[in-house]
Amino acid sequence: MIALLTSTMKPLAFLITLSFATICRAQILGFTPASATREIEIENKFQAVPSPDEERRQHRVFTQEPHTAGSKRNNELAQYIAAEWKKQGLEDVVIHRYDVYGTNPKSAVLEMIAPTHYQALLRENPIPVDDDSKSPAISGAWLGMSISGEVTAPVIYAHSGNPEDYDLLRKHGISVKGKIVLVRYSNPYSYRGFKALTAQREGAAAMLVYSDPQEDGYKKGKVDPDGPWGPEYHIQRGAITYDFMVPGDPQTPGWASVPGARRIPIEEAVSAPKIMALPLSWHDAQPLLESMDGPAAPKEWQGGLAFEYHLGGERVKAHLKIEMDNGIQPYYVVEGRIRGSAFPDEWVVMGNHRDAWVFGGVDPSSGTASMMELTCALGELKKQGMRPRRTLVVCSWDGEEIGLTGSTEWGEQFADELRHKAVAYINVDEATSGPNFHGQAVASLAPMLEETTRSLRDPSGKPLCDAWKAVVEREKREGAQSSQFSSSGVVNETLADTRIGSGSDHTVFLNFIGVPVLGLGFEGDYGVYHSAYDDFYWMNHFGDPGYKYHTLMTQLWGLTALRLANADLLPYDFAAYASNIRQFVAELGAGNKSVILSGASSNERAESKAPGSAVDLSEVEKSIDEFEAAGKKLNDAISRKLSSGSLDQRLTATLNQGLMQVERNWLNHDGIPGRPWFKHILYGARYTYAHLELPGLTEAVEKQDWPTAKQQADVLEHALRKNAELLRDLNQRVQQ
Ligand SMILES: [Zn+2]
Repeated sequence: MIALLTSTMKPLAFLITLSFATICRAQILGFTPASATREIEIENKFQAVPSPDEERRQHRVFTQEPHTAGSKRNNELAQYIAAEWKKQGLEDVVIHRYDVYGTNPKSAVLEMIAPTHYQALLRENPIPVDDDSKSPAISGAWLGMSISGEVTAPVIYAHSGNPEDYDLLRKHGISVKGKIVLVRYSNPYSYRGFKALTAQREGAAAMLVYSDPQEDGYKKGKVDPDGPWGPEYHIQRGAITYDFMVPGDPQTPGWASVPGARRIPIEEAVSAPKIMALPLSWHDAQPLLESMDGPAAPKEWQGGLAFEYHLGGERVKAHLKIEMDNGIQPYYVVEGRIRGSAFPDEWVVMGNHRDAWVFGGVDPSSGTASMMELTCALGELKKQGMRPRRTLVVCSWDGEEIGLTGSTEWGEQFADELRHKAVAYINVDEATSGPNFHGQAVASLAPMLEETTRSLRDPSGKPLCDAWKAVVEREKREGAQSSQFSSSGVVNETLADTRIGSGSDHTVFLNFIGVPVLGLGFEGDYGVYHSAYDDFYWMNHFGDPGYKYHTLMTQLWGLTALRLANADLLPYDFAAYASNIRQFVAELGAGNKSVILSGASSNERAESKAPGSAVDLSEVEKSIDEFEAAGKKLNDAISRKLSSGSLDQRLTATLNQGLMQVERNWLNHDGIPGRPWFKHILYGARYTYAHLELPGLTEAVEKQDWPTAKQQADVLEHALRKNAELLRDLNQRVQQ
């Protein structure tokens, strides 16, 4: 709401908003009436601090120069953040060093040698009106964790580079063994590391991945500098680490890369790719594509360039040489905190990654700017004597772009402590690439996130929750391939997207430690992802010209954190969690006849269900009912207790410890089959990074591995019953 006001009218308008909020707000989830009144005062003070001008100033600091993971500039920015945080009043500011297997480019050459000669530019041409795009510090084309090597071979077009694409090539008698595959970035997004693994498994010598104008270029709309979409020369860099197997430093799977830590040989690291890979602009891909012979590619494989795409054969040959500098280097995580006044050993953790592929206009510096204003405002509250009741921990991660490395190593280092202390982790990666709010949360925190958005206004003047609802409804109408919607078309009951995959720094918290996570971001038309054009100019012309959404992000991030930090009883809703889990199970059943649900008739049960060729989830469903019933009773008991206003500190502490334990109980120590690092039994990610609910069970069902499916169903049922019992126990304590 403040974002709409000009600075001169701010004080008056602010007073009006204040009293409006105070009168209208009766209660906040997790707060007694007295605490809620105090919380509103705190939040109003908090919201007055961030300003669009300051957001813009901070954004310029971070987007001034390229700052890839481990680079000199990125390390200077770590120092800058630490110094700013100290000035802002944060406590215990420390820079953690991790010695990790890093990746840097040395040189790359790509030339088509037949049927004609073409030397690929592998660089982005400057845009005359955008001075930053002229910087000599901009890297050429490279993909993190590519191996070094050299090959001269035919080039084959393999569409999105997914397994089914190679099946189609095989049908046409085309093998990619020893050849160079040319694939394209796909829409919906599929992680390039999965494309690289697939190419490696197919025996290709190298993978080239290009940005087709159909996905993020002129077929979508006007391109930079006339619009937000990707121009002819934009190159989407990125890492190809197989972090869907295990994220972080490939040589320390499951433990922290503190200096001197044990390391496995890189040859044994499952997440280290064994293939050469390079990204291309469509400008560089075009000569290869249009020279190809072989059968015409199917309709779905055609792209936005003005010629017919072919699968390729022997006609197009290319010479590719990549030299990488992969090896141990330090990454730095900055950590600061404001110690809690009442419960210093309960932590609300927040984070954003600092490293960018180039300037990082959206990704991640929009988030970094919002974070710097967040810490400024939190420091301001502390100076005014308003210390949070729980401890706020803020982190600036390094190497997110290279396999989620900084957050993973930090999480692994402090896993035991976090298991005892962490209330939630709030991630902001890209704060804004446009006006459409997208909020993710584990289902237990979805209601509190929605409630928080009711206290804020979108720059259009609408309550943020209404703007959010409009986005969700529009996506639903358009049948968008958003993660909000499952393949069966079932929509979440909540506005929050409770289907959480991987691809950002929340992963270690949720999947390895069992910390409830939230992810916040504003999205829009954005075609310059991971390219040199994702910069200050782009943000000021397309992404968020007035920095209103940056400001709103700071406010939302802060309010969410403050509510979690100041609540009397932690605002988890386990009845909501239960109904979400029921939905996940129903979707698994809807997608597979061999999954027997309790609603199945005896006929259906008997019908062609030879023993050992199906999995019966009716006991799982019963345990969901049990967990839900216990969650509802606890919700009622807690809200009665809160409105009575009588809570002593000891009871509060006991209850909160118990409430925090619920998420930890979703972890299976053995991990999901084949991926022991990923321990959460409700949330996981596919190799593409796409969300994957009930990961162990779902993958077993998809493979028709019924013994494993049965075993995973037992794990799920056991966790549900354990949590139902925990909630019943907490309920009794509330009643006492
Ligand atoms: Zn990012």
